[in-house]
Amino acid sequence: MLEVKDLKASVGGSEILHGINLKINAGEVHAIMGPNGSGKSTLSKVLAGHPSYEVTGGSVNFEVNRKPIDLLSLEPDVRAKEGVFLGFQYPVEIPGVGNIAFLRESFNEVCAHQGLEAMNEEEFMKLVKDKMRLLEIGEHFLTRDVNEGFSGGEKKKNEILQMALLNPRLALLDETDSGLDIDALKIVAKGVNALKSKYNAILLVTHYQRLLDYIVPDYVHVLYKGKIIKSGDRSLALELEKKGYDWLIADVEGKH
Ligand code: ADP
Ligand code: MG
Repeated sequence: MLEVKDLKASVGGSEILHGINLKINAGEVHAIMGPNGSGKSTLSKVLAGHPSYEVTGGSVNFEVNRKPIDLLSLEPDVRAKEGVFLGFQYPVEIPGVGNIAFLRESFNEVCAHQGLEAMNEEEFMKLVKDKMRLLEIGEHFLTRDVNEGFSGGEKKKNEILQMALLNPRLALLDETDSGLDIDALKIVAKGVNALKSKYNAILLVTHYQRLLDYIVPDYVHVLYKGKIIKSGDRSLALELEKKGYDWLIADVEGKH
């Protein structure tokens, strides 16, 4: 579904991603781990099309219904309509834009682009309320502006509510687990597991093995200084939890 080849990207004139290779099949969950400043958020934002990041090399192929799409050639909104979703590490507040209006507009745009029938308001509200129940989200989410005055945990839950509604083909979740208490973490995991199917793929950026107890990844990758330095299965996350990153970094840097 996603094939990233030798992807290089810069921000503010310095290269942050130095050649990323990553292949994700439909139905798979991949976790990206790695020390702070490795480029994990940069990778997620480049895939979503953040305008501050310049792609300086490589390619990203995204396949929808067996049709290959050059993801990097698309504007961010078209990527979103094709089914790419980014849950931000730091969700922004958008005062003046009602949360429910935002959800509805996004949902309608995605449906229209994908040739799906629009829902009337009543049907849409029923869907939102079902998802809110699943995620144990209070009614106040509907009357407030996007993320305005939300606690850190509520913002993360709101990202997952957007994801649950938009039903993306590729969900990129950037540290959606950080700042969550254990109950909220379980709820977020429930939302992600409800999305998971053989038709879509999930890329989770996380620092904690804890999340991976609830969302079991097929592959775990370690990003360091803009490169994937190690890939493995779930057991790699457990090993990192015990040993940290130093042993891997020492290998890469040639220090022993
Ligand atoms: P991670 O998510 O792995 O912690 P980031 O992708 O956020 O890492 O950052 C990788 C590197 O890129 C860091 O050194 C960071 O300072 C730099 N960087 C990220 N965004 C910007 C930006 N907008 N301007 C300048 N430097 C940036
Ligand atoms: Mg980050």
